[in-house]
Amino acid sequence: MTTEHRYAGGCLCGAVRWSATGAPLYQGFCCCADCRKASGSGFVPFMGFPAAVVTITGETLKVRSPTFKGGIALRNACPTCGGLVFGGEVGVDASHTIYAGSLDDATQFAPTMALFLRDKPAWVALPEGLATFETMPD
Ligand SMILES: [Zn+2]
Ligand SMILES: [Zn+2]
Repeated sequence: MTTEHRYAGGCLCGAVRWSATGAPLYQGFCCCADCRKASGSGFVPFMGFPAAVVTITGETLKVRSPTFKGGIALRNACPTCGGLVFGGEVGVDASHTIYAGSLDDATQFAPTMALFLRDKPAWVALPEGLATFETMPD
């Protein structure tokens, strides 16, 4: 008998909800300056899932910004409470980045990497043992 991992979360007020099944493709911290500004924090904790296993409900406020690799990053926040919930465009992108702070059960987050250490403020202390990257892995 296999255990299917289930993840669920949403914004502060509950208007935007998500769920996902299976193991995350990757999970860690993004310390880029854009994530810092978007979140008002030192970093964004993220979990990547294939779009096919993610279900999202609720309208979002869509915030677009240029990415390191020259594309456009779309961050989705709740239009009511402002909570930052996930990245990527529903129905368009092949995967979604879920902001792990939106988990209902925060203990499910198991980070393995940290991105954009070049932008990380000295006051952000990361856990030991992460794979770290000055920007992003290739
Ligand atoms: Zn909300
Ligand atoms: Zn970032």
